[in-house]
Amino acid sequence: MNDPRVGLCTTCVHARRITSAKGSTFWMCREPSLPKYPPLPVLRCRAHQENASP
Ligand code: SF4
Repeated sequence: MNDPRVGLCTTCVHARRITSAKGSTFWMCREPSLPKYPPLPVLRCRAHQENASP
């Protein structure tokens, strides 16, 4: 899945998708040296690491 509104986080091992009770989706970055909630879309990221699973 690659959502152009989100960018690189959609395919990154450091990303975690969070769905709120109201159904909104948030993307959290678990890479400690980066902001927890990056401004989207993320088009370039030095810590991006492609997720191996489809
Ligand atoms: S490392 Fe970069 S691409 Fe990966 S989740 Fe964090 S902000 Fe997104």
